[in-house]
Amino acid sequence: MTFSCNSDTSISYSGSYRSYLGHGRVGIPKKCRCGCDVALRKCDDGTKFYTSKGNTMDGEPHLRMWWDEAIVEELGELKDSLADLCTQVQDMAMDCGRLEKLLG
Ligand SMILES: [Zn+2]
Repeated sequence: MTFSCNSDTSISYSGSYRSYLGHGRVGIPKKCRCGCDVALRKCDDGTKFYTSKGNTMDGEPHLRMWWDEAIVEELGELKDSLADLCTQVQDMAMDCGRLEKLLG
């Protein structure tokens, strides 16, 4: 993935933001890996991206991530969580069924 954006903050970054983020986290970034807050910024063409608010020595933000890709990943995570919850609810319903039979 190439990260490029025409704004006065002149952004160009290529590589995987997954490894860039570290910790194997996906979805909407909540905190930068250094602990600083994450800001949602907009390019001149309206494309949105997440970046860290923290200042670094070389002036390069720690974090850059396209907003739409973050949303897609976040949705994927939510779907997985939902599937897990559904399985748990089904298991609980089966347990309840067994208990009801036991209690006659
Ligand atoms: Zn940072």
